[in-house]
Amino acid sequence: MTEKIYIECENCGFEEQEVLKKKIYNKSAYYLVRCPNCGAVREIVEKVKLSQAKLIISRYDISESKIINIPEDEIYKVGDTIEVDGEKVEITKIETPEPVKSALGKDIKVIWGKSLSIPKKLGISINDKSRTYGIYIYIPNDFEFEIDRVYKINEGFFRLKKIKTKKGSAKKSKAKDIKRLYGEVTKPTRNYIDLSEFYQGD
Ligand SMILES: [Zn+2]
Repeated sequence: MTEKIYIECENCGFEEQEVLKKKIYNKSAYYLVRCPNCGAVREIVEKVKLSQAKLIISRYDISESKIINIPEDEIYKVGDTIEVDGEKVEITKIETPEPVKSALGKDIKVIWGKSLSIPKKLGISINDKSRTYGIYIYIPNDFEFEIDRVYKINEGFFRLKKIKTKKGSAKKSKAKDIKRLYGEVTKPTRNYIDLSEFYQGD
């Protein structure tokens, strides 16, 4: 979806412009816009009002907090991805200070987020009929899992039985949305997905 801003075209007077490029600096914003009516392209440098918020980024079990500048008029939502110092961070909580699902930059006191720039630590419960083993893998956030497929970790094979997600369960999901995987030990098969490189031992 193309982002739009309400600003008049210098060429034809059309009131809405499409944003082709946007950069937010410390106290200004740069836009490259195109007029959807006449096609004129121009650059706009604007002073933006910035507000300070505390950002708490969690990477595995360790959190880092920093102060960031965010545009007052921009809307932030839980689930959005923001980029901070080159790191992609998914917003998990917004406080104004009350917890809210979305808010304008100027109302936000604290943004909680988790880093998407590091592999996700994902727990798997594997049942072998007599007991259940719990292990962890460190997997890229966009790695997709699907139930009924066979996965291999070192010499062990398991069939994926359940994917527990934030919203319940799913047949297929990317690692970043998964809370836990459940599998059952199975015999080696020819078609499997090897996860060994993501397993670091216990
Ligand atoms: Zn125009």
